[in-house]
Amino acid sequence: MSLRSRLGAARRQVLCSLYRRTVPMANCGPIVSFSFDDFPRTAYSAGGAILEKFGVRGTYYAAAGLMNTSNELGEQFRREDIDALLEQGHELASHTFSHISCRSVSSAAFRDDVEKGRKAIEEVTGVDCPNFAYPFGHVTLQAKRTLGLGRSSARSIFSGFNGAELDLNLLRANSLYGDLNGLPSVEELIRENKARNGWLIFYTHDVRQNPSAFGCTPALFEAALSCAVRSGCRILTVQEALTEVGVQNGNPEGQARWGVPA
Ligand SMILES: [Zn+2]
Repeated sequence: MSLRSRLGAARRQVLCSLYRRTVPMANCGPIVSFSFDDFPRTAYSAGGAILEKFGVRGTYYAAAGLMNTSNELGEQFRREDIDALLEQGHELASHTFSHISCRSVSSAAFRDDVEKGRKAIEEVTGVDCPNFAYPFGHVTLQAKRTLGLGRSSARSIFSGFNGAELDLNLLRANSLYGDLNGLPSVEELIRENKARNGWLIFYTHDVRQNPSAFGCTPALFEAALSCAVRSGCRILTVQEALTEVGVQNGNPEGQARWGVPA
């Protein structure tokens, strides 16, 4: 292992073990959630349609400042996409306003942008969006410590499974990128999640025939969802899964605790 990757692993270890806000999974698993970040229109038009075909719903982490814009992930969401996905029962969650990294600005500026993003979505929709995902998957101890207050969950892109004690300040999630050649590793994750009785979260961006490096094809998305359904795991949105473990709008019924484990 190179020095650089050893340092990366050590940093992740520190970020995972400090400022935790833990809740036991108990016997709520196995659960699989599908989420989309930013989000491009195809996440809803293609990804949402596949979820609906299976009678399940997903979680859309929206950075309000990206609305009506376009980038390498394709056209970003519009107001009507938000209305449509809420109408269909999907979950809307937040992802800062400007899609900024907590590593690139002061912690106060980051916290302000997180709140601005949450408020912007709530003003448009009238719904509370207590769940959050860190843009670029960047996490700092400062961000982890301050964001946990008053928020149901903060999702990372640290891979792996949630449970037996999940950390509300750093939910783990796994990329769902590329085409069908990525399916075996997805199937393995779903198998292991079932065996662990855990909560497995996937995230992607655009869902289209020729996806960006951060998206997947409709074929991979559908195959992953089909595998998760066949495995017997329940397919829930992030908030639905949190409700199962007793977390409602940032209130984990007294179970969560702040702590710095030994
Ligand atoms: Zn993002």
